[in-house]
Amino acid sequence: MYSEWAKDEIRIDRLEIFAHHGVFPEETRDGQIFYVNATFYTDVHKACEEDNLAYSIDYGDACFFITEWMQNNTCRLLEAAAEKLARALLLKYDLICELDLEILKPHAPIKLPFGCVSVKVHRGWHRSYIGVGSNMGDRERYIKGAVEALEAHPLIKVKRVSELIVTKPYGGVEQEDFLNGVLELETLLNPEELLETLQKIESAAGRKREIHWGPRTLDLDILFFDALCYRSETLVIPHPDLQNRRFVLEPLAAIAPYMCHPLMGKTVAGLLKEL
Ligand code: ATP
Ligand code: CA
Ligand code: CA
Repeated sequence: MYSEWAKDEIRIDRLEIFAHHGVFPEETRDGQIFYVNATFYTDVHKACEEDNLAYSIDYGDACFFITEWMQNNTCRLLEAAAEKLARALLLKYDLICELDLEILKPHAPIKLPFGCVSVKVHRGWHRSYIGVGSNMGDRERYIKGAVEALEAHPLIKVKRVSELIVTKPYGGVEQEDFLNGVLELETLLNPEELLETLQKIESAAGRKREIHWGPRTLDLDILFFDALCYRSETLVIPHPDLQNRRFVLEPLAAIAPYMCHPLMGKTVAGLLKEL
């Protein structure tokens, strides 16, 4: 579950597990002891009001889940075990918004005196808004297909889909009218992984990049990702032109009017009004 503010902690300290992770053959054959530390970030307010475990995360159950996961899987790297177990916990317990997960290996095969080695990851749900557009072929079918592909992804939940609106092309290229909309997602992917996923869905819909701002079967743009401001060679977040586009702001304002643009400090509804 995504939450912007749930920061209460439920902790598991030094859960001891005999398991078979490691790079060397004798490690996967003989096994060794691991310890797991976990911190679940959640909101315990309701569980507290009702004094009822049904509104919280059962740490006993989580200990058994972690133990079984560690014993039923074999990873070469602690990194892989930590990342995959973190993901499995986030998918199993909806009340965990974010978590820290540390796996310690006190008997790692290092021929030097040492206390312990460990890998710790922090993972959690993110909320992202995606702009969708199409102006070729069966536009509605392409957009529905994109929503279905996102719903089928194990690390993405589609929470809201705006109405689709018909819009005039943007950017001066003579072409057919567009169908545009916006989706709200919750995801365990990071921004670059999300972009890669969106681009695969575009390619599967026959998207070609021939003319900049030209006709397309399917376009999927990341508008926001939490309140993140990010730029790399391949990705800019928030989408750098969204404040100038009615075809983005209108459907976005319909599902997230009070979403605040992290750089402009204005709500989506405010940006639309100023356009
Ligand atoms: P615009 O981004 O102005 O709407 P476009 O959608 O027509 O234009 P594309 O050809 O779909 O542009 O994408 C060009 C490149 O933009 C992509 O390869 C991608 O790496 C990059 N890009 C940068 N920021 C984003 C973002 N927030 N969402 C999607 N793609 C992005
Ligand atoms: Ca676009
Ligand atoms: Ca795009």
